[in-house]
Amino acid sequence: MWLQVACLTYAANRWMLVNHKECCSSMAGGVEIAMDTLTPSERSARMARVRSKDTKPEWTVRRIVHRLGFRYRLHDGRLPGRPDMVFPSRRKVIFVHGCFWHRHGSRCVLTRLPKSKLEFWRPKLEQNHRRDRKNVGLLRAAGWDVLVVWECELQDATSLADRVTGFLEAA
Ligand SMILES: [Zn+2]
Repeated sequence: MWLQVACLTYAANRWMLVNHKECCSSMAGGVEIAMDTLTPSERSARMARVRSKDTKPEWTVRRIVHRLGFRYRLHDGRLPGRPDMVFPSRRKVIFVHGCFWHRHGSRCVLTRLPKSKLEFWRPKLEQNHRRDRKNVGLLRAAGWDVLVVWECELQDATSLADRVTGFLEAA
């Protein structure tokens, strides 16, 4: 059976159904798939795609930035947290974070913790969150401006473009 309106996201060691309105078509794991026809190898291939560096949310932001005409470097490993986009002459960086893995916050529906294996997931995810905060602190201390774009914010392309423009153009 094909699911036309539900999105699946791989989180917490299992596929979770996400309400399509709450999710969005551009989120990393939001894919329409035939739920009961996936073989284990297809499933792991999909997981690899979800986890890859060039995730779809990041592409959405890249397209916006590109359209605005800003030049940037990708995934600069010399900077704390390996920012997704680096604008060296402006001394600014942008991170594009998946809401689940980076713990967006309790009001974000994509952040919800799984009901099972909490003892495994909670420390792992909290560690992600701590590491992100530390990296942002290190970057700011070194004089970089940091913008974090969350996966769930990609649905409103206009306000996202405004935000990114405001961030990049501010002195
Ligand atoms: Zn979110």
